[in-house]
Amino acid sequence: MKDEIDILIKDGLIVTMNPKRQVIEKGAIAVKNGRIVAVENSSELKKRYFAEKDIDASGKIVMPGLICAHTHLYGMLLRGAPLKISPPSDFSQILQRVWWPMDEAMTQQDAYASAAVACLEFLKTGTTCFADTYSGPNSTHLSLDSIARAVEEVGIRGILAFEATERHSREEGERGIQENVRFIQKIAKQKESKVTGMFSIHASFTCSDDMMRTVRTLASKCKVPITIHASEGLVDVYHNLEKYGKRTVERLHNIGLLGPDVVLAHCVHVNDDEICILRETGAKVAHNPMSNMLNAVGVAPIVKLLQDGIPVGLGNDGYIFDGFENIRTALLLHKVYHRDPRVMTLETVLEMATMKAAELYGLEKDIGSIEVGKKADVIIIDSRRSPTPVVPQSVYGHLVNTISGFDVETVMVGGSIIMENHEVKTVNEKKIVEMARSAAEELWRKLGVTL
Ligand SMILES: [Zn+2]
Repeated sequence: MKDEIDILIKDGLIVTMNPKRQVIEKGAIAVKNGRIVAVENSSELKKRYFAEKDIDASGKIVMPGLICAHTHLYGMLLRGAPLKISPPSDFSQILQRVWWPMDEAMTQQDAYASAAVACLEFLKTGTTCFADTYSGPNSTHLSLDSIARAVEEVGIRGILAFEATERHSREEGERGIQENVRFIQKIAKQKESKVTGMFSIHASFTCSDDMMRTVRTLASKCKVPITIHASEGLVDVYHNLEKYGKRTVERLHNIGLLGPDVVLAHCVHVNDDEICILRETGAKVAHNPMSNMLNAVGVAPIVKLLQDGIPVGLGNDGYIFDGFENIRTALLLHKVYHRDPRVMTLETVLEMATMKAAELYGLEKDIGSIEVGKKADVIIIDSRRSPTPVVPQSVYGHLVNTISGFDVETVMVGGSIIMENHEVKTVNEKKIVEMARSAAEELWRKLGVTL
């Protein structure tokens, strides 16, 4: 008598990312009630289970859905924008001339449209969970509801926050914090939601000690993570040294912000003492190599952070949403920076995009690997176009060096198939792209672009 299950993914090359980093040839995954109930050889599981739906994964790679540790969904509307600005010469000017005017111009509809199109691209390229920070001083209240609606419609997971900042005033910071509190309390009432909330602080150079302490207290009370941009450009370091006599991580530690529930985005300009503080407080790091290269801020000391045992997840910072491109860049950047091809491995960069990213937000018991008991967030990648063998010994090399996100053909989140053979099951792709185009056109117009 066979046990009944919902779905059996069979005959695939399964990259589990479990603690033993097992790769199973001709493997199968049994899914019931949204969770993984068995991962073994196909022949074994075919004998044991009767599935309502079988998925034939022969010739394909099966792995956990990618997790993006830091993003700004609304950055999608900036894609290709021919802004008429003097070319920024450093990171501060990038914020002042590109991002901050965009933040001001964003509306609730833009928040929804950008989130929908960004989640669609995440889905189509194999990312099943992300941590987002939205910024919009003129669209603050209820913005997280608009974004949550888009995430839920597409069907992937999102950890959402509004980016609190005192860029204009203390009241602005208060409004940002309140939007997070409102959303966190609301979403906490929804059991089994794929969307959750957290707190986001923009950066130490736009926020007071008082504001950051308030966020710390609230996050502990609500039991949600905090994220903050830290030492992305030199502006943080200069600001904190001049005003407080401390480097960025030292100041954050001094006010009591840091802890295992804090994710620092970037950490490009951190020294050994600051790395020591990160280790001692249990704070974690979201690495955004493509964004760091785009903004020319420098190279984060990821090799050192990893050597010191600090969890590092991979983010896109609102730039390139195909996780496989970010994985590949993380591999390449550190090799060339150190002029040593040994400093970054295939396994390390894949970990940063899966189980390590899950660990950043305390989700490692539920997602980030293919293991019994975990939520069934699984992607299936067509590797049949590969000109060389795709076998357990070569699969990491293929995933990091040759696979593109658009090779992902089937995506399952919590046991629900939301894309099958490249066909999105949850939303109308064409409508979402049209909606995003129209939002972008209006937004660009507000930013002075004439089309
Ligand atoms: Zn960011």
